[in-house]
Amino acid sequence: MKLSSIIRCLLLASSLASIAACGGGGSSGGSGGGAGMVLPVLQQPLSALEGDSLLFIREEEKLARDVYLTLYDRWAEVTFQTIATRSEQTHMDKIKLLLDAAGLADPVGSNGVGVFNNAAIADLYAQLVAQGSTSLTEALKVGAFIEEYDIKDLQEAVVEATDGTNQLAVIQTYNNLICGSRNHLRSFVSLIELAGIVYTAQLLPQATVDAIVDSPMEQCGRQ
Ligand code: ZN
Ligand code: ZN
Repeated sequence: MKLSSIIRCLLLASSLASIAACGGGGSSGGSGGGAGMVLPVLQQPLSALEGDSLLFIREEEKLARDVYLTLYDRWAEVTFQTIATRSEQTHMDKIKLLLDAAGLADPVGSNGVGVFNNAAIADLYAQLVAQGSTSLTEALKVGAFIEEYDIKDLQEAVVEATDGTNQLAVIQTYNNLICGSRNHLRSFVSLIELAGIVYTAQLLPQATVDAIVDSPMEQCGRQ
């Protein structure tokens, strides 16, 4: 198996329908859509704060997907495409299921790549695409930035959910997304370091990033 195939396979480990793809080397699996996903059950309504976070995270996952799709178009680095279509799409889908369960209107709807309801996320999209368009190394650093950002935000959302209505479906989904982000951070940092560049943490403590990138890829909820 070529190194790129191995990396690709490891990246797939953070999406739902990917185990078979590691053995056969095929490219089946679709876009990681909602088919086959278990509908989450909420035992009680979310607090207003929890609802706001869910809405934000839905677009935050779209930010990751859309930045990676755009940077794939720019650099043809397949890691961006794989993470966008296999993982971030799935992350978006999982949050959409929770929005549906909570009876909250989806802020994404049919919005295309780069279109956001939240102005701060729209600004961040423009900024990250601009930075990532200057060189492939900058693009990979943008990828690592997004993953650090997601881990930080999702960890705060877990605390908020635990202190709030403390519902398993929400907390499990967030933890699953954090696990996916750790794998993505590993992938981006390993590509940066393959280029001979030492990666410096951008948002999380350096020791936290080091502990993540120095540990193996995870299965993220699957056995
Ligand atoms: Zn994600
Ligand atoms: Zn990610």
